[in-house]
Amino acid sequence: MRAVLSIGSNMDDRYTLLQGVLEEFKDETVAVSSIYATPPWGVEDQDEFLNAILVVDVDCTPIELLRRGQKLENDADRVRTRKWGPRTLDVDIVQVRDGGHELLSDDPELTLPHPWAWQRAFVLIPWLEIEPEAVLHGSTVAALVENLDPTDIEGVTKVRES
Ligand code: ATP
Ligand code: CA
Ligand code: CA
Repeated sequence: MRAVLSIGSNMDDRYTLLQGVLEEFKDETVAVSSIYATPPWGVEDQDEFLNAILVVDVDCTPIELLRRGQKLENDADRVRTRKWGPRTLDVDIVQVRDGGHELLSDDPELTLPHPWAWQRAFVLIPWLEIEPEAVLHGSTVAALVENLDPTDIEGVTKVRES
């Protein structure tokens, strides 16, 4: 199964934390974006984030993949203080495809595709770099980026090439 992961950090050593996720998935990685600096989304009075997208080809179930991401978050000593608040590491599953089909789920534990991804510049802009023709919510990533607010696009800047 092919999964698109969105990873982010706005606390502690952000590069090292993101690098740890890339390391965990290195043998399963199909594509990885550059790292982008992005303004906080949802809760704005917190530090800037670093975000990236990776596409992985994994031999496990979506829930097992979620658990792997959560283990990385726990290893990064992630503490949940408030919704959309500061975090050392966040690993979200944006989309899962299997045999050419997109997996859909409305389970709150694992909602697929991720409910907010299609309107988040910090997901779409890194994703555009590696899979512009991927389709989410019936539109290509390229089209979704075109529909973003220009201010949201400007806020996302590449800080480290992949
Ligand atoms: P958001 O999901 O809006 O990006 P968040 O990442 O801050 O917010 P978390 O506190 O990290 O939210 O996760 C809350 C719960 O979301 C997790 O316990 C997880 O079970 C659930 N969840 C549902 N769908 C997904 C998904 N596609 N990827 C990751 N977690 C998900
Ligand atoms: Ca998230
Ligand atoms: Ca999350």
